[in-house]
Amino acid sequence: MMITPIHRFRDIERKPEYLQPDKCVPPPSNSSLGTMWFIRDGCGIACAVVTWMLVFYADFVVLLVMLVPSRDYIYSMINGILFNILAFLALASHFRAMLTDPGAVPKGNATKEFIESLQLKPGQVVYKCPKCCSIKPDRAHHCSVCKRCIRKMDHHCPWVNNCVGENNQKYFVLFTMYIALISMHALIMVGFHFLYCFEEDWTKCSSFSPPTTVILLILLCFEALLFLIFTSVMFGTQVHSICTDETGIEQLKKEERRWAKKTKWMNMKAVFGHPFSIAWLSPFATPDQGKADPYQYVV
Ligand SMILES: [Zn+2]
Ligand SMILES: [Zn+2]
Repeated sequence: MMITPIHRFRDIERKPEYLQPDKCVPPPSNSSLGTMWFIRDGCGIACAVVTWMLVFYADFVVLLVMLVPSRDYIYSMINGILFNILAFLALASHFRAMLTDPGAVPKGNATKEFIESLQLKPGQVVYKCPKCCSIKPDRAHHCSVCKRCIRKMDHHCPWVNNCVGENNQKYFVLFTMYIALISMHALIMVGFHFLYCFEEDWTKCSSFSPPTTVILLILLCFEALLFLIFTSVMFGTQVHSICTDETGIEQLKKEERRWAKKTKWMNMKAVFGHPFSIAWLSPFATPDQGKADPYQYVV
């Protein structure tokens, strides 16, 4: 019998009759109802707080160092409003990515009743996660930070303190996009402001002293450049993996493709919602994904 490489990555692979459901105790039925999804991970919470602080720092420098002292009110008004709208959308996407259940598989559902309810055909296999005692739907992976199996897990991102999976990928992609946009916008404004200060008097182009102004602007420049590179690369890889319908983990493990191939457009709609609309850009619009049965296994 030939063993394909994908089998190496399966935790436990047994035919249903060999599963030992007795070891799995189902959690109390109301344990996950009404509670908000939030990962209690110190490193992730610290990274998320740093992210907000960096956005607030950028907003502070943009408004108080560059736009308020400027004498061109229309320039200040337009750029101030644009920057704050983009920063608000970035933070809103961050909150949605962090507080949305990425697609966690019910814990401890590997019970005899549940396996029987799947009505598996002879020869069909189910995968059980030994760490969280759940029946793993196809393409789900266990995350050691979230301590859960996540459907279509892409990676665990400490910056949003959550896994990026089937249900929150849209918000994560929007987060990277809006951070890239505010970084680009800030860089352009810093460039214009330096030109303005060189032409004008340094004491008049900012409400702070010239050395403070230079330090604040250079720090913003570094921050914006770093985040522009980081988030635009992330945005590109995410859009690519959505179009090819292959998660980061699947690309890494070079898993054999077991799921149907769809067009790029269909794959985009599956993440961002049907049909294409302005809601694709809104972190407040929950995509209607019309998900397929997660417990469909390929025999
Ligand atoms: Zn698991
Ligand atoms: Zn995770």
